[in-house]
Amino acid sequence: MQDNYILLGVTGGIGSGKSTVAKMLADLGAQTIDFDILAREVVKPGREAYKEIVDRFGEGVLDSNKEIDRKTLGEEVFNSTEKRRVLENITHPRINREFYQQLESIRSEHGKCVVQAVIPLLIESGMRELFHRILVVYVPRDVQKQRLLKRDDLSEEQAEARLRSQMPLEEKCEYAHYVITNQDSLDYTGKQVKDFWRQLLLDLEGLGG
Ligand code: ADP
Repeated sequence: MQDNYILLGVTGGIGSGKSTVAKMLADLGAQTIDFDILAREVVKPGREAYKEIVDRFGEGVLDSNKEIDRKTLGEEVFNSTEKRRVLENITHPRINREFYQQLESIRSEHGKCVVQAVIPLLIESGMRELFHRILVVYVPRDVQKQRLLKRDDLSEEQAEARLRSQMPLEEKCEYAHYVITNQDSLDYTGKQVKDFWRQLLLDLEGLGG
């Protein structure tokens, strides 16, 4: 049976404008599942992943409220592929489970609809096949770096290190069904988002259900 909804994967690079574009799509009517939020939820105290992370990485990754300090944990795994893999093996299955639960609940509530999943590492983590459409939010590297410096208050080296650790955006664009360029005004980005949304609605209309 053909699906009666469109599952859209929204990705890009750090600071390229995924959240900005996702908010515009949500305002137009897309249902949204944000993987950054899921990633925060699965490591909350009381959740399975919380205990496993503390067992594996020690209490040094907790803040004064005994919650996992994602920044400290992020720094701990940033330079170690091995540690990153350990952390991903703990969190990814839980994030995926939450994702499918949210998807099911959105589908039972809204039926025929567009669901966007906002996923920073969609392409790197081999999730492409899950989606009917993939949208990449693109900016040139120098703009990306400037926005990152401004938003996250990073040093030049820290921003460079983050950019270097990700697949270049040009390469991500090769996997996209659709690319929105976000280096100009928000108005211009909004116009592209509206054009894309119109196409999605036409595609949705063509589906059964
Ligand atoms: P991501 O979710 O991909 O990390 P954001 O949507 O948070 O990126 O955007 C990164 C930063 O750039 C934010 O501070 C955001 O307000 C800003 N920004 C996004 N799009 C534009 C734009 N077209 N013009 C100027 N600033 C922008």
